[in-house]
Amino acid sequence: MTSLTEFPSPGRLLRHAVRTIPAVAALATFIHLARGGFRGLHTLDWPEAALVGFLLVGIGVAAWRRAMRGAVGAVIDLRDDLELGGGLIAAAFIVVAIGGGELFPIVYLLMAFLVAFLPRNAGLTLLGVALVFDALVTLGGPVPNGASFLTHAAFLALFSGLYHLVLATRMAAARRAESDAVQKRIREVEERARTFRLVSSGTQDSFSGMSSDEKWLVASVKEVEGAVQAALEIAETGLRTYTCAAFLLTSDDRSLKLYDCRSGSERVQRERFNAGEGIIGGVLKRRAPVRMNSPQGLKGVTHYESGGPAVSALLAVPIIEGSGLVRGVLVADRLANEPFSDQDEKLLSIIAGEVLRSIEVERVMSYIRKTRDEKDRFFRAIEELNRAGSPDQVFVAVLESVRHLAGLDFCAVTLVSEVEGKRMHRVVRMTGVTSQGSKALEGQTFADNNGLVANVVRYGAPLPGRDIKAMDRQIIFDDETQIRGLGALKIFPLTAGDRILGTLVAGSRKKAAFEQDVLRMIEVIAIQAAQAVLRAQLYEQMERMATTDGLTGLFNHRTFQAKADEILAQARRYQRKCSVILTDVDHFKSVNDTYGHPTGDQVLKGVARIIKSLARDTDVVARYGGEEFVIVMPETDSKGAFTISERIREAVKAETFQTEMGPLKITMSLGIATFPDHGMEKQQLIDLADQCLYHSKRNGRNQSVTVEKMQGGRKLQAAAEAS
Ligand code: GH3
Ligand code: MG
Ligand code: MG
Repeated sequence: MTSLTEFPSPGRLLRHAVRTIPAVAALATFIHLARGGFRGLHTLDWPEAALVGFLLVGIGVAAWRRAMRGAVGAVIDLRDDLELGGGLIAAAFIVVAIGGGELFPIVYLLMAFLVAFLPRNAGLTLLGVALVFDALVTLGGPVPNGASFLTHAAFLALFSGLYHLVLATRMAAARRAESDAVQKRIREVEERARTFRLVSSGTQDSFSGMSSDEKWLVASVKEVEGAVQAALEIAETGLRTYTCAAFLLTSDDRSLKLYDCRSGSERVQRERFNAGEGIIGGVLKRRAPVRMNSPQGLKGVTHYESGGPAVSALLAVPIIEGSGLVRGVLVADRLANEPFSDQDEKLLSIIAGEVLRSIEVERVMSYIRKTRDEKDRFFRAIEELNRAGSPDQVFVAVLESVRHLAGLDFCAVTLVSEVEGKRMHRVVRMTGVTSQGSKALEGQTFADNNGLVANVVRYGAPLPGRDIKAMDRQIIFDDETQIRGLGALKIFPLTAGDRILGTLVAGSRKKAAFEQDVLRMIEVIAIQAAQAVLRAQLYEQMERMATTDGLTGLFNHRTFQAKADEILAQARRYQRKCSVILTDVDHFKSVNDTYGHPTGDQVLKGVARIIKSLARDTDVVARYGGEEFVIVMPETDSKGAFTISERIREAVKAETFQTEMGPLKITMSLGIATFPDHGMEKQQLIDLADQCLYHSKRNGRNQSVTVEKMQGGRKLQAAAEAS
């Protein structure tokens, strides 16, 4: 077994032998030339002829090896280049030797070629070989010729150098041009990618406005247009057409409209035209290609305006979707009577497919754009809702966004509330026109009935469940409020957690029911709106708690101080009067002591109600503290305040409070001070009113005391004391 590896196999020996041919042949040629061989054609004997043959075989082997290595991608080493180059140089020298010295330029050319195309090392080595060999031949021969050698050497070097230089610059320039072209292409692709990324990066660009939208639109439309144009151009040149045009069916399938064309005529039909007539009508009806020709000009050509050219050959293929739906027709014609062939029909059908693909892409793009716009508007609506502070702002935002998103004709928000244990519904905001006229419904309340709104609140689910026929007979709110002219309706509950706050009513004149994604969008807005309403209501409640008194519902002391400042400032600016009444229940301690604190609270609530009912709307009524109340009355002098004060006192005195221990009656003392008569400052007036109150307490209680009365009384008292 091992013995086989010790001796090279016959195949390998042969390969080795062949491998040495180029070098041996070149070397043998050089030696023969150096010894004065190849004197001329007439002296060519058979050994020389054999040597030439051998050299040619060597060149062949070297060239073949080099080609093979190049083909399999192997490295071409120096030896390969030297063998081939050496062989060629030897051959050139044979030609020179036989043909005479005037043929030496062949060697120049060969060297220039080798130096230019082989790697520098191989080129220079071969140049050296040629020089040495030339020296051997010209100097070592019977008649040494130094001048000839020097000329040869100089020309060889010059030629090789120049050629190398020229080629190197050429190649560098070509490489640079190629790399420029590649760079340009990369920039184009990047630009397009940027445009695309810009528009497909989700909500990040939601608010960057129209510019990115426009970019997207322009880019996508250009893209599609470019594709169709290219397809039609192929048809035009490939089929040598006069006109090649794509027409699309309109949505009702009755007319055709030009999509794109390439034509030598200005009269290609650009307006809609009947899709049922002429040759094209036949193509659409039969859903199959048609080829026709007539030397006299074809009849039934509909794709030109009047005055169009006389067409002698026509080929039309339908543009059919994968689903079988016919979208349009692709028409090609020729003026010359040159019928279209099978091959032409095949090509135009392929192009029809290309046009269809473009239409599809355009449709998808516009769909993406549309949904993107919708998404944008949706998020903007949600954001608007979350920004809204008061319930009213929320309602406005809800109606605005729902109307925008869904294109509604009627829209309303209702709220539910309990009034004395009874559920009531109130239309807080609405847009659109009702039979009662615009906005007639806003602010109206209606009882819990069997209308749709009441039922939506009752069951917490959107109504109506499915399309309803007699929309006009539907009771939305109550019998009296009819909304006429609606084709579609949906009412959503405003649900926050487990609470139902009201409803969102959405109506459209269009008969078609709402699309699924529109419904989903309104639903999400309803949820957001409910949260916003709840938030706003809580906020209002907190605000109320901060400004009012928990027991009586009147303003608290802090709010009284602020309101009093405002009213006084107004009075000061417009030089008007303004009065303050302070009240205090007489012997209230004994009420508490006898009837208990809770009864005392009931009495305080009753007194607060009486004061509030007798004060005017512009008056500020507040709980001053404990069982004391305060009334600030703008535009009121001492006399006017006294009148009101007395009314309040009488009413309190007249009131009978029912308690567990029987009926209870109370009285109240009141003190009155007036701006600017008795004082300019708030505290001064309050103090004076308090003194008047004290005056009442000291003088038998159950009376109203003005500053005048108090001062009059004091004077009388002083006089009595003096006498
Ligand atoms: P006078 O006629 O002098 O005013 O006698 P009076 O007993 O009313 O005396 P005063 O005004 O000083 O008494 C205030 C009493 O009012 C003391 C307190 O027990 C009672 N009071 C204060 N705030 C409340 C309250 O919120 N609820 C109840 N039930 N009683 C209160
Ligand atoms: Mg008191
Ligand atoms: Mg009191």
